[in-house]
Amino acid sequence: MKELDDIVKLLEKLRSEKGCPWDRAQTIETLKKDLEEEYEEVIQAIDKKDYENLKEEIGDLIWTLLLVVQIASEEKKFDARDVLKNTRNKIIRRHPHVFGDEKAESPEKAIRAFNKAKEEEKNGLRKS
Ligand code: MG
Repeated sequence: MKELDDIVKLLEKLRSEKGCPWDRAQTIETLKKDLEEEYEEVIQAIDKKDYENLKEEIGDLIWTLLLVVQIASEEKKFDARDVLKNTRNKIIRRHPHVFGDEKAESPEKAIRAFNKAKEEEKNGLRKS
């Protein structure tokens, strides 16, 4: 996705030697406070049904999460592509009633299938 690539480039620039001193000073740990604040602002926008503000705050939260990912990537832990690939595979695994042979005709049955798949993952019965 071009927008994701553009954002990652922006993060790389801000974290580079010619970047921003504040962004360069951050660690995964220092960003915990920012993550909590941005999450709280998302919740407040939802409560107020202020969708223009919600768009803004979701952007702030995603930006802060991607800054965490950028630092993790610099530390050779994982990158944005690893995160998205991992999530996509997990979501597919946990929807055997959509992507597999199981059936779920109601939200209750769907969440049961989801939780069963999650449990099987934990017990090592299902692999991506
Ligand atoms: Mg904000």
